[in-house]
Amino acid sequence: LLRLDGATVRFGGHTALDAVGMEVAEHETVCVLGPSGSGKSTLLRVVAGLQPLDSGRVLLAGHDQSGVPAHRRGVGLMFQDHQLFPQRDVAGNVDFGLRMRGAARAERERTVEELLELVGLPGAQRRAVASLSGGEQQRVALARALAPGPRLLMLDEPLGQLDRGLRERLVVELRGLFRRLGTTVLAVTHDQSEAFALADRVVVMRDGRVEQAGTPLEVWQRPASEFVARFLGFDN
Ligand code: ATP
Ligand code: MG
Repeated sequence: LLRLDGATVRFGGHTALDAVGMEVAEHETVCVLGPSGSGKSTLLRVVAGLQPLDSGRVLLAGHDQSGVPAHRRGVGLMFQDHQLFPQRDVAGNVDFGLRMRGAARAERERTVEELLELVGLPGAQRRAVASLSGGEQQRVALARALAPGPRLLMLDEPLGQLDRGLRERLVVELRGLFRRLGTTVLAVTHDQSEAFALADRVVVMRDGRVEQAGTPLEVWQRPASEFVARFLGFDN
């Protein structure tokens, strides 16, 4: 479904993405792992069409996306800091993408109801975003990303601000949800246990490059470099 070829992004003298190649197959969940500053968010922004490439290509379903604006790519992005609209209620956040697309009111209301059910916030339509806990806000952000029915769902640290117990529960819920919906997912995390629980394949990034890609088991059993081994927590 998704392919990157030699994707390169420079900010001044700094290369944030350095000739990145990777693929995500239909219905697959791929987790991007790597330390802070390794280019994970930049990678998602490039695929979403929010960050232009200096060189290389992004292909979705075989089509080169250069020049295709973000809202025409059919991808959903849940931002690292979720960026909900504080002045709108829960429903007004979740149906944002649907309104952008000009969906009818009845369809929007039905979709919002279903999605809030799905993320475990049934009936929360009229609640003020500011009155929700951090975990509830992340669920709203997830529902918003799912609402337009993206062919590729991208999540940037979807559970970033949550405590350990809630993270572990949500990881299991999310995995079940994606399997059920058949969603193709590209998710960023810097928590390896989260990646290993969620992913069919993991991609480990370092300094804007792909250091290793493989199934969680492959990467765990045969880290390709000392960097990967150290990142996974093997200290010697
Ligand atoms: P984190 O885990 O902290 O979220 P990340 O892997 O998502 O890190 P990116 O946000 O992709 O990292 O950033 C990669 C590099 O590019 C960093 O060195 C960052 O400072 C730089 N960078 C990202 N966006 C910009 C920008 N708009 N202008 C200048 N530099 C940027
Ligand atoms: Mg980031």
